[in-house]
Amino acid sequence: MDDELEDLPRHERRKILREQEKEKQKRGGAFRRLRNWTVGLLALFGLFGGGYWYYKSLPEISREDIISRQGLHWHPELEILIKGEKQEVPANIGIGAVHKPIHTHDATGTIHMEMEGLVKKEDTKLSKFFEIWGKTFNSSCILEFCNGSNGTVKMTVNGQENKDYENYLMKDGDKIEIRYQ
Ligand SMILES: [Zn+2]
Ligand SMILES: [Zn+2]
Repeated sequence: MDDELEDLPRHERRKILREQEKEKQKRGGAFRRLRNWTVGLLALFGLFGGGYWYYKSLPEISREDIISRQGLHWHPELEILIKGEKQEVPANIGIGAVHKPIHTHDATGTIHMEMEGLVKKEDTKLSKFFEIWGKTFNSSCILEFCNGSNGTVKMTVNGQENKDYENYLMKDGDKIEIRYQ
């Protein structure tokens, strides 16, 4: 192009050079726009990425962990037998100034699970009831009776032996029997 310019009259040459200059500036503008877009997009991705990372870092409640979103009112039954002798599960466990989500109204062994809103598996563990009652229950002890030469702890749910013990997730109508013998 420059060689060809040599042959052109001066004013023509200037005109062409000016055009070339303008073209260069235009391209510069295009470059700037592209750069601004790139920076903008990177910032946007950064924002999304950050948001996503934050979201992922939150403790996750997976779908399988949710039992209900609208609360529940269930009545499992609990019977505790020590060497064949029935132990009382007293009335009004968990009933005080605050109504605990798991409580008793009478001494029949009926457990009332009265929960509102989101209910997770964790909330329905048998251990929750014992925590509220203030008594011990796990695979090695029931109340003050622990595995040893005097006996061992066994649990059945609806007549079936169950090895979940305190981690058992209670369900409506369950017949839970804990025996020490
Ligand atoms: Zn009830
Ligand atoms: Zn109640």
